[in-house]
Amino acid sequence: MLRKFILLISFVTLATFANAQQYDDTAFIRNWLKQQIDSISDPGMYGRGYVNKGRDKAADYLSRQFKALNLKYPGKKRSYFQQYSFPVNTFPGKMNFAFDGKPLAAGEDFWIDAGSNGIFDTSMQVEVKDLASIATTEEWDVFAKSFQPKGRAYILLNADSLCKKLGIRKRYLTYILPKGCFILGQKGKFNWTVECDHAEATVLYVRDELLKNVPSKASANIASKWFSSAKSKNLIGVLPGAIADSYLVVSAHFDHLGMMGINTVFPGASDNASGTAMLLYLAKYFSTHPHKYSIIFIAFSGEEAGLLGSEYYIRHPKLPLNRIKFLTNIDIMGDATEGITVVNATEYPKQFDFLKEINSRNHYLPKIVSRGKASNSDHYYFSELGIPSIFIYTNGGKGYYHDIFDKKEEVTLMNIPQNARLLIDFLRDYQ
Ligand SMILES: [Zn+2]
Repeated sequence: MLRKFILLISFVTLATFANAQQYDDTAFIRNWLKQQIDSISDPGMYGRGYVNKGRDKAADYLSRQFKALNLKYPGKKRSYFQQYSFPVNTFPGKMNFAFDGKPLAAGEDFWIDAGSNGIFDTSMQVEVKDLASIATTEEWDVFAKSFQPKGRAYILLNADSLCKKLGIRKRYLTYILPKGCFILGQKGKFNWTVECDHAEATVLYVRDELLKNVPSKASANIASKWFSSAKSKNLIGVLPGAIADSYLVVSAHFDHLGMMGINTVFPGASDNASGTAMLLYLAKYFSTHPHKYSIIFIAFSGEEAGLLGSEYYIRHPKLPLNRIKFLTNIDIMGDATEGITVVNATEYPKQFDFLKEINSRNHYLPKIVSRGKASNSDHYYFSELGIPSIFIYTNGGKGYYHDIFDKKEEVTLMNIPQNARLLIDFLRDYQ
């Protein structure tokens, strides 16, 4: 009995020691995060979007992680899920496009506008149309009637100036074009997105260099499918604190752009497998280091479609919103070579100063940049309700964003363990 008791004590001591040590061990933190990022951004997650049920696969994976980390369910139902739906346009099949019989690579040579229609037209004459002379909506309406829906692919010049004159953002051009195939030149990098609406037209952005010599023929075989109501899930898990009805919230979106046809994945390793991994790491830490307050961990979906998961949550909160003391949203957390930026720093100077003070005392990160309000991630709707919220993103890395190169191999995790410690200290000592 006594022997057993001593063994138990030494086991507990060792476990506690190992526990304390692992949270100080940069290599341990890096490896743990790396493993999570690799799993969450694996090509088998199909870019955590709307093709091949990528978002559900990711949600199931996260649910298992929440369970393993001993997070509690947010209500009586034994589930972390909060299901809701929204319309979404998808490309779940072929994505073939060619000039003069030469196929172009999806995601590298061309990108489909996310609101586009599918198309099957293997013999299109390429024609160039200059939009520079059109100045009014009336002129545009007349001009638009000259496009043929079949047998032609139109390279549109001066689309930017037309959008400016009509007072619309470029992404809305797709919706004012008629049925047919339209090509826009793309200088440099293209950032893909998710669209909830669907257009009559098929709009393809093609690398500028490929349009220098205008091809004579184009062929396209592209499948699109619009869902008026696609289900998505947020995940909510809780670590109860001594003051159980006061909450700190840590949030990160786990959805990404999904797939541009069945062969082209947008893995979203930096955006936002990295932030989701950090959320899990913080949950891991606080599940063994209980906090004074309860901590709610929310993995949002629908962010890339327009902050839809967090918007749904604030309308259907699982726990009272007015008991939230502070929300920390993390989105893009793969490389902090140049430190971090804090959105809403100007709104919450006390919290921002506290974060900076912890950082300079411990020399964690080279720089913490203050930024004002911005509607660029899931903190936004909380913040608009007057709930104290910040959004933290890291600065550094190779700059792959909303493209097919945002892969796990490209996530450096530079200064990320230090960033993890900064977040832990900030949350642990939050009063
Ligand atoms: Zn993001």
